[in-house]
Amino acid sequence: MNSPFAPAPFAQWSLGLDRPLVIAGPCSAESEEQVLATATKLKADGRVQALRAGVWKPRTRPGSFEGAGDTALAWLKRAKEETGLLVMTEVATPEHVEACLKAGIDMLWIGARTTPNPFSVQAIADALQGTDVPVLVKNPINPDLHLWTGALERLHRAGLRRLAAVHRGFNWFERTPYRNSPMWEFPIRLKAAHPELELLCDPSHIAGHAERIGPVAQQALDLGFGGLMVEVHPDPAVARSDAEQQLSPAAFSALLDGLIFREAAPTAGMRDRLEELRDLIDQLDEEIAQKLGTRMDIAERIGDHKRAHQVAILQPERWDRIMKRQVRLAHHLGLSEAFVREFMDAIHRESIRRQSLEGAAEALVGSPSRSSKGE
Ligand code: PEP
Ligand code: MN
Repeated sequence: MNSPFAPAPFAQWSLGLDRPLVIAGPCSAESEEQVLATATKLKADGRVQALRAGVWKPRTRPGSFEGAGDTALAWLKRAKEETGLLVMTEVATPEHVEACLKAGIDMLWIGARTTPNPFSVQAIADALQGTDVPVLVKNPINPDLHLWTGALERLHRAGLRRLAAVHRGFNWFERTPYRNSPMWEFPIRLKAAHPELELLCDPSHIAGHAERIGPVAQQALDLGFGGLMVEVHPDPAVARSDAEQQLSPAAFSALLDGLIFREAAPTAGMRDRLEELRDLIDQLDEEIAQKLGTRMDIAERIGDHKRAHQVAILQPERWDRIMKRQVRLAHHLGLSEAFVREFMDAIHRESIRRQSLEGAAEALVGSPSRSSKGE
């Protein structure tokens, strides 16, 4: 008997579709013509297996296009009949599931705003019980691996086996070059815990801009992802949702032409370990740079505040406290104290420089005396 805390036995699952799985289509189904035009062009490309289109759109804020609703299911069905592509849409409620099952939609996905809600996921799982519809589970909006795994487990416990995870990036409070930060270590950890689980990438929602999709898609393929879900619209400029990140069918075909699709590595789908570790390092370096940028922005705001209240920029006790806390942390994390002191001093020098008026900055740069300044 398994411990109730052991991971769910995912071993038997498989999406059951060819690799690489290429899914493409508009963010939203807007009209029958738009859906059919997209499907026809994607079919003509020859590399697309499934057409995606959002029918019920979960918008973060009210007041924008929320999808055409049930009527759009008939458009997807017609696209399937005319092109032979598999068709799929997002579900967020058991009513959506029932409507899709009735309309003969081939595959479903659970969106980033639904995955983190256990009640919604359970209701969807219950509605799907007894079927073997493939379900793709997007990561939750925020970086929480347990909620992502938990959603997959709920579907698995309902008897569904044709499951896959879709990495669409995470909403992050710091400035990043992405709409949703990829934080690749999360999908990598998911894959490490469940090697049989198929992992797909949605580079459109990570990049947030048509021009930046290519490198994200390639990174996913390099990491051994099994496929891509890309937003494609016949005329992106007039799209009713996510206009900036949708590709025209021609741009999408050009994207596919430029990508290197890798074979699943010989040993149980594992890629070269060194490359994998280097990707993790690159990811961490990127995060460190982002955090340093945020820290400097905040230091500048503190500088403005101090100036407004005519408080000295140098606050020795504050800096002492910061350094002591970092040294304690260093011990805890097994880092050398000398390294952490040097690192913190360098950060602090830069903060002081950014906080200072021009003249003062000159005087301070190059005087890294320990525990003499504070933010
Ligand atoms: C979408 O696929 O259009 C969508 C709404 O995605 P996400 O749930 O990843 O935001
Ligand atoms: Mn979208």
